[in-house]
Amino acid sequence: MDTILVVNAGSSSLKFEVFAVAGSLERLVKGQMEGIGTTPHLTIRSPSGERLENETYPADVVPDLPAAMRLVGELLRQRQAGRLIAVGHRVVRGHDPMTDHYAIPARFFDEGVRRYGFHGLSYEYVAGRLAEISPGSGKGRVIVAHLGSGASMCALYQGMSVESTLGFTALDGLPMGTRCGQIDPGVLLYLLQQHGMSAGQLQDLLYKESGLKGLSGVSNDVRVLLASEEAGASLALDHFVHRIGLNAGALAAALGGLDAFVFTAGVGENSPVMRARIARKLEWLGASLDPARNEAGELVISSGSSKIPIFVVPTDEELMIARHTLALIAA
Ligand code: ADP
Repeated sequence: MDTILVVNAGSSSLKFEVFAVAGSLERLVKGQMEGIGTTPHLTIRSPSGERLENETYPADVVPDLPAAMRLVGELLRQRQAGRLIAVGHRVVRGHDPMTDHYAIPARFFDEGVRRYGFHGLSYEYVAGRLAEISPGSGKGRVIVAHLGSGASMCALYQGMSVESTLGFTALDGLPMGTRCGQIDPGVLLYLLQQHGMSAGQLQDLLYKESGLKGLSGVSNDVRVLLASEEAGASLALDHFVHRIGLNAGALAAALGGLDAFVFTAGVGENSPVMRARIARKLEWLGASLDPARNEAGELVISSGSSKIPIFVVPTDEELMIARHTLALIAA
């Protein structure tokens, strides 16, 4: 049996799946290491959801992504039969030239300093699913909010990305679990000049100590923040919702209107509370939520009177990677 391993390294998690290549792609196992560097927890499941592995590790055993990869690789080697023919991992690649520029001298664009976007596999998958679920919406002007540890939003027209909140790196746009999101570059100059920070310190601050974690002083995990009584936790969530609302406005402007809104990824798929708070920021666009459908996590969570449908579409970046990997091998 030929197999493809898909690896999807997020900001705090390592997701992996093994697919059998038998004409079509068949999922064999699916797993993830969450809480890398803080509370590492590994689960591996069969396609039917049966738990094959469920293990918590001390933070120093899985301090970072390479350690998580070694541990997972070893386990899969022991557990998984078959002939591994390819490993697929996502890379980032931009496209629409006009929106890809920063207003800095053009020579920097030529060396690659440009907006790339990120989360493209997720948006490609969601666009494909939306075209199946609601062909009318799929052809229209759609905002997809990918709200996980890494978070971004994308404006799709006819299933293609026309704008995104992410840019040259995965730091721009929305505040994320530990990443800062959009920030005045003057703040970075201040930190360099007044605090004498090195490039490495600045990088750690912006990637690992900022976002919901930095703002709340409590956690990078939205579940923990929702359960917390700390003032910082509610500040961080309020800020997150506020920034999502602002960016929805910007993306709706880029599209010249809005025909549908889609929630996806960890927070978007699993948190009725956060979806309800965000949906209130979309009311001016004519969107309104049906509380019961939202609570039940249905595919369509907007009310009958909503001017635009609101969807919850679970993303599947791993399947998208496996499909692209297989297509490359076949070619
Ligand atoms: P990534 O792939 O970028 O690591 P995920 O898409 O797995 O991130 O999303 C992780 C985020 O989803 C975490 O902030 C986690 O708290 C949040 N999340 C998962 N389930 C829930 C839930 N039931 N309620 C609120 N937030 C949730």
